[in-house]
Order: sequence, then C-alpha cells, then structure tokens
Amino acid sequence: MSNTSIPLTPVRARDGVCIPLQDGTPATFVAFDGFGRHAEHFAVGIQGTAPNAVPLVRLHSECITGDLFGSQRCDCGAQLQEALARLKIEGGWLLYLRQEGRGIGLFSKLAAYQLQDQGLDTYAANRALELPEDGRDYLPAAQMLKALQCTRIRLLSNNPDKAEQLEHEGITVLERLTTGTFKTEHNESYLKTKVAHAGHLLQDL
Ligand SMILES: [Zn+2]
Repeated sequence: MSNTSIPLTPVRARDGVCIPLQDGTPATFVAFDGFGRHAEHFAVGIQGTAPNAVPLVRLHSECITGDLFGSQRCDCGAQLQEALARLKIEGGWLLYLRQEGRGIGLFSKLAAYQLQDQGLDTYAANRALELPEDGRDYLPAAQMLKALQCTRIRLLSNNPDKAEQLEHEGITVLERLTTGTFKTEHNESYLKTKVAHAGHLLQDL
C-alpha cells in the first residue's frame, strides 16, 4: 500500500495519438507529463460500439511475459485481451501502468519465478528476495484519470484494493465489474494464492 498522506502531484495529459489496434479498432494513446522520466504510464482510449454513459476503466499493470508473449504462468495476457474486448463495446480507458512484476521489475520477477519453481508461492518468493510482496501503486492511475477529466468511472477489476485507492484519491467508482477467471495448468496455484493472500475475488477457481 502506498503512502496516501502526500497530496498527489497533478499530471498533464498530452494530445492523444490514434493507433489502430490489431483488428482495426481505432484507439487513442495518451502520454502524460509529470510522472518523471522513468514512469511512462499511458492511457489507451477506446470509443466503443455501444458506449456506456460512464466510462469503463481497467488498470493494467505491465507484464511483458504475459502481455506480449502470452505466458501461462499468470493471467495478465488474458486479462488484457478481455479488457480490450469489453472496451471495444462499452468504451472507456485502459490505463497501462509501467510496474512490471507487481512493481519489482522484470529481472526480479524472473528471479522470483525461479524460487517459485523450487516451491515458494508468489508472495513468499518476493519476500525471499527481500522485495515487497506487492509493490504496485495505483495512485498514478488516479492522477491519469483526473488529467483525462474522467473522475466518475465503472471499474473493471477483481481487486477491491484498486477501487479503494481510487476512491481515496477522489475518483468515484460507480460500479465495480468483475473480470473472468483465466485458469491454466500453469497458473492455478498463482491464482489461488492471489485469492487467499491478497483478497482477490475470483470465481470458479
Ligand atoms: Zn503476468
């Protein structure tokens, strides 16, 4: 959990750039000023074919192995694709947060995977490396939503902590919608640990 007593520095949205996605859907990629050089968080806006009056928002933390390569060790790739599919209908924003490996970075994530292969669960592996169990910070998402003038949202998430952090920063979460459960033979224990340890709400596990 982040230190929430420090007021958020406002960030500024740059002009959006249109990038057609793989299926031709036009998306608007928005960069931001104010995060500093090493935090290239960005937003992807999608109009939607049947847009809801209140935009759907998905906070997605970077996972190169899952997002780009479809890794079966986690459910990130499937969750990203699900979010895009829903945004293409309902319209809204995907906030892509550059906090790889729950904020520990790719190299540390790979080191944690090695420990997991020796029997540690995903959180214990991070502790063994003297890294935070979950170093993700959702406050940049609140800054981005404010910069996008999008402060009333429907949040696509199974993680109650995300909604709480956003509400705390002045974003009104009118509805929280659950995502699907993407179980594979390689990620079942990872998903069960998320439920047991971090309070994620996953159905059909
Ligand atoms: Zn992942």
